[in-house]
Amino acid sequence: MQHIAFIGLGNMGAPMARNLVAAGFHVSVFDLAPEAVAALVEAGATAAQSASAAVQAADAVITMLPANKHVQELYLGQGGVLDSAKAGALLIDCSTIAAEVARQVAQAATERGFAMLDAPVSGGTAGAQAGTLTFIVGGEAEALLRARPLLEKMGKNIFHAGAAGAGQVAKICNNMLLGILMAGTAEALNLGVAHGLDPAVLSDIMAKSSGRNWTLEVYNPWPGVMDTAPASRNYSGGFGTALMLKDLGLAQQASLSVNAATPLGGLVRQLYQLHAQAGHAGQDFSSIVQLFNGEPDK
Ligand code: NAD
Repeated sequence: MQHIAFIGLGNMGAPMARNLVAAGFHVSVFDLAPEAVAALVEAGATAAQSASAAVQAADAVITMLPANKHVQELYLGQGGVLDSAKAGALLIDCSTIAAEVARQVAQAATERGFAMLDAPVSGGTAGAQAGTLTFIVGGEAEALLRARPLLEKMGKNIFHAGAAGAGQVAKICNNMLLGILMAGTAEALNLGVAHGLDPAVLSDIMAKSSGRNWTLEVYNPWPGVMDTAPASRNYSGGFGTALMLKDLGLAQQASLSVNAATPLGGLVRQLYQLHAQAGHAGQDFSSIVQLFNGEPDK
């Protein structure tokens, strides 16, 4: 498997495609934004004039697109990936989308004779650049075996979550929990600070007690507690509130489709909705602490 088509060269896709080029693959790239294509060509990729042209000769197709509708249109639309890909090509969608849509597209791909994986990622833009992403994969084990040599050039951990769509389910379970943990940590820190506690001391106490979690350990939402966290650079960079809101919406859709109770996930989605509406959609998701302390630049 030498010739790869990569479609969707945004914040995540561009560095992922660059890592494949650096690993020696022949990578044909396409994005709706010509400047994104040009930047990859400079890194050694080959430009395609359309998605259809990019995939025609490729052994594997990787897509990294914003949301459901982009994936549906690109794969299922007239002249899309399923109409244009070479027989036997392996299809890998790394976008974060609804599990239902991932299953629908995988089903259509299977009917046309293609093996397809949903392979959403965790690790953010830093992980994409460093080639240390976590891939959370749904689909046939045999297809994952074929995909591994590619995924290993872009990521460090590769998990097989189950059948088609399972990668998306596992990804949004994780991100729903992360949203809950972040909001809960922000709430607890705010309570302590309102009582006059030092947020760094309180964080240290909770990080070594039973409230311990990832946000306290590496991503503290209170400004000044952790130099490396987005909270200490006015919530710039990191994982945007709008993206967290999207993932929390996907989690609610997933919960409705199987009648699961996800009350905390529902509440935290509402909190992130209010926070985004208050003008924080572009800030890192840890800025949710401002919903509690009411001090935007604290
Ligand atoms: P992005 O908006 O930066 O990039 C998406 C790219 O897709 C854009 O360059 C856009 O022009 C292109 N595109 C859209 N429709 C297209 C089409 N039909 N044909 C060709 N190109 C098309 O988004 P991103 O931050 O790279 O995120 C991509 C996916 O990864 C999303 O589903 C997101 O939820 C997920 N994700 C993002 C992060 C993160 O930290 N940014 C982390 C994990 C997962």
